[in-house]
Amino acid sequence: MIKTEVVIVGAGPAGLGCAALLKQMGIEEGELIVLEQGEIGETFLKWPESMRFITPSFPSNGYHQTDLNAITPDTSPAFSTGKEHLNGEEYAQYLNLVTQHYDIKVNTQTRLKSVVNLTDEEGFLLETDSLSIRCNFIVWAGGEFHTPNVNAFSGASLCIHNSEIQRWNEKEQGAYIVIGGYESGVDAAYNLANEGNKVTVLDFIGNNSDSYDPSMVLSPYTAERLANLSLLGQVELDEEFKVASVQKKADQYVVTSTCGKVLTSRFPPINCTGFDINLGPVAELFDYQVNGYPLVNKFDESSKVRNLFLAGSRLYHDPTLLCFIYKFRGRFFAPCSVIGEELALDMSIFRHYKKAGMILNDLNCCVEQECFC
Ligand SMILES: Cc1cc2nc3c(=O)[nH]c(=O)nc-3n(C[C@H](O)[C@H](O)[C@H](O)COP(=O)(O)OP(=O)(O)OC[C@H]3O[C@@H](n4cnc5c(N)ncnc54)[C@H](O)[C@@H]3O)c2cc1C
Repeated sequence: MIKTEVVIVGAGPAGLGCAALLKQMGIEEGELIVLEQGEIGETFLKWPESMRFITPSFPSNGYHQTDLNAITPDTSPAFSTGKEHLNGEEYAQYLNLVTQHYDIKVNTQTRLKSVVNLTDEEGFLLETDSLSIRCNFIVWAGGEFHTPNVNAFSGASLCIHNSEIQRWNEKEQGAYIVIGGYESGVDAAYNLANEGNKVTVLDFIGNNSDSYDPSMVLSPYTAERLANLSLLGQVELDEEFKVASVQKKADQYVVTSTCGKVLTSRFPPINCTGFDINLGPVAELFDYQVNGYPLVNKFDESSKVRNLFLAGSRLYHDPTLLCFIYKFRGRFFAPCSVIGEELALDMSIFRHYKKAGMILNDLNCCVEQECFC
């Protein structure tokens, strides 16, 4: 049985961002354990080879404009890789550099299997295959990539979820159906068309919104690629096709819309409807909002269980979804401030984070912001 103060679950940008902040606050070696079921940046290592970040990286940190994909104010993926739109492997490399720089020890290949909430005084009991850990604080930063959304329509399990695809150029040539027209759907269409396939994208929701929140509309990077695609003439967008079901009939996949329209393909449709909200072994320790997101207080702590925090892309503070790195990194301070208070850590680093735009207190920020032209 190992005893520690803080366990962070997940060595993605959220978990490592919180760990790096705690390290800068002076947390001691034996007070912090990071658990990672795969390798550092596991999610990014699973991205298809051709996938790139849509948010650009630029080493503008010195001007208080921290690189959009950085997880600390003093690092920059653009600086460490020399790239503006990194692929998954390059971002995982950046995360490895961050771990080395801040001397964060990560227990890789160590999956958290269960959590028991003991009393307030005794904290939590955690089990992995090889470790039993008692701790006082948990930061769940397990991400979403390992739980694809297979409930968006009936028969979704007959499709291939885009997160399962490693290489688009290994697909047999022909006509494909892509379900979901946001970032990953357009990425799938772009890559399939580039390989000479015909693609029909269903339920296209991209460019027609007047929001400037990149969580609501296609990013400029994707919109630009899409514009090039329409020149290719290989991609058809059906913006009014809401998929009701996918069925397999003989050697055809039959996709039916809620209005009764039917399309067929000899290949399984590509499901690009995103990911589920599934907090794995801590799922039961949270209450949920009506939209399914975990309910947290102003410190991103579970409303149900004290000292259990959520970090990363599943954070939703009505009306703001903190789904991108540059958004949720602004919340690393929230759990760290509670932990820092309890462990009497040095919180002066928060001033530096604030200057770097990495303290996000105003959760109406995107709604109240106007972008005139
Ligand atoms: C294709 C794609 C493109 C994207 N492009 C961008 C972009 O351009 N810009 C941007 O800001 N965001 C982008 N995102 C979103 C971004 O990837 C996520 O917001 C980010 O990965 C979330 O970080 P995280 O640390 O919360 O989760 P993750 O990066 O998924 O990290 C979670 C980690 O937890 C580990 N884990 C899970 N369960 C357990 C367990 N039980 N025990 C131990 N370890 C566990 C996982 O293995 C994983 O390493 C993209 C996402 C996808 C899928």
